[in-house]
Amino acid sequence: MTTTPDPMCDHRQLIVVANRLPVRNVSDRNGQHWVSSPGGLVSALAPVMTSRPRASWVGWSGSAGRAPDPFVHDDISLHPVELSRADVQLYYEGFSNGTLWPLYHDAIAEPAYHRTWWDAYLKVNRRFADSVIEIAEPGATVWVHDYQLQLVPGMLRAALPDLHIGFFLHTPWPARELFLRLPWREQVVRGLLGASLIGFQTDVMAHNFRHVVPRLVDGAVIDFDDQTVSAAGRSTVCKRHPIGIDVERFAEAAAEPDTAAAVEALREQLHRPRMVLLGVDRLDYTKGIAQRLRAYGELLDEDRISADDTVMIQIAEPSRTNVNGYADIRAEVEQLVGEINGKYGTMDGPAVHYLHRSHDFQELIALYRLADVMLVTPFRDGMNLVAKEYVATRYDDTGVLVLSEFAGAVHELEQAVQVNPYDTDGLKVAIERAVRMGSDEQSRRMAAMRSIVAESTAHTWAETFITELESE
Ligand code: UDP
Repeated sequence: MTTTPDPMCDHRQLIVVANRLPVRNVSDRNGQHWVSSPGGLVSALAPVMTSRPRASWVGWSGSAGRAPDPFVHDDISLHPVELSRADVQLYYEGFSNGTLWPLYHDAIAEPAYHRTWWDAYLKVNRRFADSVIEIAEPGATVWVHDYQLQLVPGMLRAALPDLHIGFFLHTPWPARELFLRLPWREQVVRGLLGASLIGFQTDVMAHNFRHVVPRLVDGAVIDFDDQTVSAAGRSTVCKRHPIGIDVERFAEAAAEPDTAAAVEALREQLHRPRMVLLGVDRLDYTKGIAQRLRAYGELLDEDRISADDTVMIQIAEPSRTNVNGYADIRAEVEQLVGEINGKYGTMDGPAVHYLHRSHDFQELIALYRLADVMLVTPFRDGMNLVAKEYVATRYDDTGVLVLSEFAGAVHELEQAVQVNPYDTDGLKVAIERAVRMGSDEQSRRMAAMRSIVAESTAHTWAETFITELESE
């Protein structure tokens, strides 16, 4: 009989490498100190990390300039990597968010290709790898995260071949012809192949990656059954490992009496509308916020929805304000909100409540509970956690999720009302259908989605990835 190793009881050293550390520095009346950052990755990894001796996290503190010395926070040893102001501009805002982010999201915005950005990406990836090399024990498990650090697995493999190196891509991996535009495509693919396991959000993304390798690496062979790519005597498993959420945390908070009171207070403030539609996104051009507003405005124009009994709430969390394209999308969204509210707002309130600021966990839970219809309509998204979070809070199986065909989440949440976000008429039909859906159909769809979300949580995602990596 074979037994599956339990990642929680392993004594191997575990090192997580991500652009950001799981903490941020705050200064308040207690002075300057570190607090845990809210976020899916931290809560997914915390249980498996704190259960292991010598678990470490290598990442940037979020401030340019001299890095703080390593320190321990919540039983995890944190190793800050230094980024200068120029590194932030060239590696982070430049190559990561001005080249790779748009390219990996189907080039919705034009990716910019600058050799100085690439040079900085190479240099900073080297710095992250050196930081790992400094602390890694023989045979350690190293899990590298996301598009900012794709060269790190290759650098680690060259220096310390006995490490267990895994990589997870949180964003989409693009179609072959798109990826091939990248002038440094071969270096990126070779960097990733330093890992023995690469996780993607969907099967299609894993497939796209496997198929680009033989084009760029001489002699590379794909094994379709094992989902591996072999090159230069080593093989890498490249497969789907979709990320989940901390379902219990969302479901429990949703059922709290305080949440019910907060929902009631919001409903009252909104003058008890019959229907609340909600969007929660970072203000990013991939999220399709303007297109969604356009569809909503046209439904009001055509009297297919009435502002007398329906309100829309759009949370737009400020994001990457120094990166090209983000100011444009903000201007477009705010103009559309202004136009809709100019036509349909009344002294009682606007037709679209637009909130350009970040909302905390409790506020989001109340909004998810308030929303009769959740609009998640990105042009492209690796997963989209907001879709899963909404579902997790719908313990009474009410509510309708409208979900883009191009969000990774749709591969699991098939019972959502699926929509092509490029098709404004289709978007209108989907919103109308959601608004009019009867309670039996809502409940059937939501129950199915809720059991899927509950099956693959953030914790199971982290555990299954590490177990698989360590058995390679
Ligand atoms: N979020 C938040 N406050 C906000 C807006 C969003 O905490 O004001 C959180 C949200 O709960 C979710 C994450 O940010 O966990 C967004 O993740 P998603 O996968 O939907 O999109 P991303 O921003 O990673 O592209």
